[in-house]
Amino acid sequence: MKLEKELREEKPVINHVATSYKNFPMVPKVIFGRGSFNQLGEILLPERRNSDAPFIFLVDDFFHGKELEQRIPWLFNDQIIFISAGEEPKTGQVDALVDKIKNNFDELPSGIVGIGGGTLLDLAKAVAIMLTNNGNSENYQGWDLVTKKSVYHVGVPTISGTGAEVSRTAVLSGPDKKLGINSDYTTYDQVLLDPDLLSTVPKEQWFYTGMDCFIHCIESLNGTYLNAFSQSYGEKSLDLCKEVFLNELPKEEAEEKLMMASWHGGMSIAYSQVGIAHAMSYGLSYLLGVKHGLGNCLVFQHLNEFYPEGVELFNKMKEKHNIIFPKGICATLSDEDFDIMTTVSLSMDALWENALGYNWKEKISTEKLKSIYKKI
Ligand code: NAD
Ligand code: ZN
Repeated sequence: MKLEKELREEKPVINHVATSYKNFPMVPKVIFGRGSFNQLGEILLPERRNSDAPFIFLVDDFFHGKELEQRIPWLFNDQIIFISAGEEPKTGQVDALVDKIKNNFDELPSGIVGIGGGTLLDLAKAVAIMLTNNGNSENYQGWDLVTKKSVYHVGVPTISGTGAEVSRTAVLSGPDKKLGINSDYTTYDQVLLDPDLLSTVPKEQWFYTGMDCFIHCIESLNGTYLNAFSQSYGEKSLDLCKEVFLNELPKEEAEEKLMMASWHGGMSIAYSQVGIAHAMSYGLSYLLGVKHGLGNCLVFQHLNEFYPEGVELFNKMKEKHNIIFPKGICATLSDEDFDIMTTVSLSMDALWENALGYNWKEKISTEKLKSIYKKI
């Protein structure tokens, strides 16, 4: 395995005059602080067009009947819709929500507020887009297919790690692919970061979603796409992850730091890419519905050959927190199943190119991928 620096040096010389750099949006407004959720009402107020144009709150159903439900600042004919994060978001689910909202109200909503983890954050982004763009959401899975500005949307993360709060993608499973709606209109108009909201996250889920962030950093920092922009965010995020998962921080400090690690990790991959764990985790998710954070962990533990230092740190974190991964996930799969997973995984060209360089096809084989999947 070559060092990432060597791989970069192997790349053909790029004519910088002809290179086209990405020009991507950032979240324009963000509020951070314990108890900042109490300010959500005043943040939404200037965005209310009139009393008939509601705010729709899409909320993780974990909060149904909990204290947070009472604190949601609804007014007039606003609607709160509780949604299970048991499964990752689907295009059909987005389309059904959009139909429901359009049928219930004469006017377009003033805005959509997503409250939850990556699942709810991505759903809310996709619904905000599909309220103004025609057709079905599966037609927008890809890059820059959205033509009309989405409705105003606000993201309120309640678990940290995915970076979905800063990213310009809303990852959806469609009838034939799991792929994000990547567009300049996907990014949130406002994000509210209140570390108090993380206090109820169960330990295993905290670890899986937190490791999503850690793996974003390792894959970004060891990738051939790395540049100073990504590196500056990736290094900060990695330092925060180490503090949170390897030190003995007070709970509140750990929550705050993980929330910021997620933000910086998301910013890091915005200008680079993820790598092998994500590419292979997509295969697991597509065939078996394994959720993103856990899927990344299940793959990453076997990537010592590609990310030796990252895997060593990962194992330390796992041991420190007594996390035991499920085993035998791929034990009963058929050859066809392995073919499906490797095909899905190897279709993610950019992730492999980032991980292994422009000639990545010469460096990885379907056999290699199958041998890793068989260990899971
Ligand atoms: P999640 O949203 O799927 O939630 C995981 C579990 O945690 C659920 O059971 C949920 O109910 C629970 N939960 C959330 N907040 C809680 C709280 N405060 N207290 C108690 N329980 C809580 O988890 P996730 O890992 O944040 O998101 C995964 C999703 O994010 C996947 O769909 C993945 O595709 C997506 N993702 C998106 C991006 C992006 O840039 N858009 C990046 C990475 C992952
Ligand atoms: Zn991820």
